Amino acid sequence: MSNPSQGALAKLTPVLTKRWLSPDAWKIGVYERLDGYAALRKAFKAQPDELIALMKDSGLRGRGGAGFPTGMKWGFIPQNDGKPHYLVVNADEGEPGTCKDLPLMMADPHSLVEGIIIAAYAIRANFAAIYIRGEAMHAARRLRNAVNEAYQRGYLGRNILGTGFDLDLVVHSGAGAYICGEETALLDSLEGYRGQPRLKPPFPATHGLYSAPTVVNNVETICSVPYIVLGGGAWWKTMGTEKSPGPKIYSISGRVQNPGQYECSLGITLRELLELAGGMQDGHQLRFWTPGGSSTPLLTAEHLDTPMDFESMAAAGTMLGTTAVQIFSDQDCPVYATYRWIEFYHHESCGKCTPCREGNYWMAHVLRRILSGAGTHEDLDTLLDACDNLLGRSFCALGDGATSPVTSSIKYFKQDYLDYIEGRKAPMFGAGELVGAH
Ligand code: NAD
Ligand code: SF4
Repeated sequence: MSNPSQGALAKLTPVLTKRWLSPDAWKIGVYERLDGYAALRKAFKAQPDELIALMKDSGLRGRGGAGFPTGMKWGFIPQNDGKPHYLVVNADEGEPGTCKDLPLMMADPHSLVEGIIIAAYAIRANFAAIYIRGEAMHAARRLRNAVNEAYQRGYLGRNILGTGFDLDLVVHSGAGAYICGEETALLDSLEGYRGQPRLKPPFPATHGLYSAPTVVNNVETICSVPYIVLGGGAWWKTMGTEKSPGPKIYSISGRVQNPGQYECSLGITLRELLELAGGMQDGHQLRFWTPGGSSTPLLTAEHLDTPMDFESMAAAGTMLGTTAVQIFSDQDCPVYATYRWIEFYHHESCGKCTPCREGNYWMAHVLRRILSGAGTHEDLDTLLDACDNLLGRSFCALGDGATSPVTSSIKYFKQDYLDYIEGRKAPMFGAGELVGAH
């Protein structure tokens, strides 16, 4: 295992992660001693519109995967309309390989609570909810503790810090469905319905929770807010690139020495990130990787020096997504990895629209047929045809995302598919074994 060089370590920009190594930073007393709630006091001195302008000026882009400008999203909420507005935090982190919001909520839950209060004040919302994955019971407990502490200290509830601003905050646990991370399915689930995506537009900004104007933001996005309030937009823009400013938590997993979370300026390359993570595991060579979870097309060793920001990833034919960097080596099979991801999409498809419900079912079958040595050359056309009928024809991003591993693995690793089809590679399954059988 190699230690990161000084040059690599200099690439770390601990902003959101700066309290992670402070013991008990999740307790309100410790958080306050470490500058906690200072941003809230500063924010209350500004008008809500000024805070929205600050977010626009900082260039903060959504950290859930899509990268939509946060200030613009907040700016969509009608001001002074006298109607209820809502803030909903998407903590349903479910994209395969993604592990940044959970550690944030475990290590520093009050930075999320503080960001929520500031954001709610800016959009004039008096009710906010954190929608957290059902499986993440430990994080939900920690958040509920933080919310109770914030109520006791007068940061939540009526007339917060004597400002006249009221805010109630609830932590709502989902039931572990990937689709409930899609913002409108999340809103349906929060309202008590089965979580299925709604037609967009209208967007939640105008018709969100209970059809009222609602901002839905990711955990990491909201945790960025207090730092921008304290440091200013110009400081935030000293990190990252012109169009993708700020720090970002990259979660790296797979065949690396030190998997985990590394907070770096947007635009770091995989080569630099790998060095921070101690390099590849002994005896493994990089073969393929995801920049932002399985919904982002695969990249290869050719892309070691491509900056990981929104624009550069798009130019490379993929997406930044959730910055879930999953590393695969020469000992991993891209066809098998693709099959496992498609099984996941097949399992998690909500079934509302035909292209996704049927497409993922059939793609899983065809991939399994190829892996069992019974595939044909036509199967590759069938897979690409299924992707054509999913991409842009599905009701929500889950269907689009499912095409990413299939099209990109065929693009870069067609030979691996042909090796199974033409009998050069040993079958991975017995013929006739069912999809989802293991
Ligand atoms: P999107 O581009 O449709 O929307 C992004 C955000 O901008 C949404 O909040 C949307 O309401 C808002 N928006 C977009 N256009 C708008 C407009 N004209 N007016 C008002 N608001 C507007 O993307 P999406 O479907 O919300 O998300 C897809 C992304 O989710 C993918 O890039 C993927 O990386 C990511 N994802 C993340 C996870 C996770 O665990 N964090 C899981 C699955 C997918
Ligand atoms: Fe449901 Fe899939 Fe259609 Fe999305 S694309 S609405 S998950 S069936």
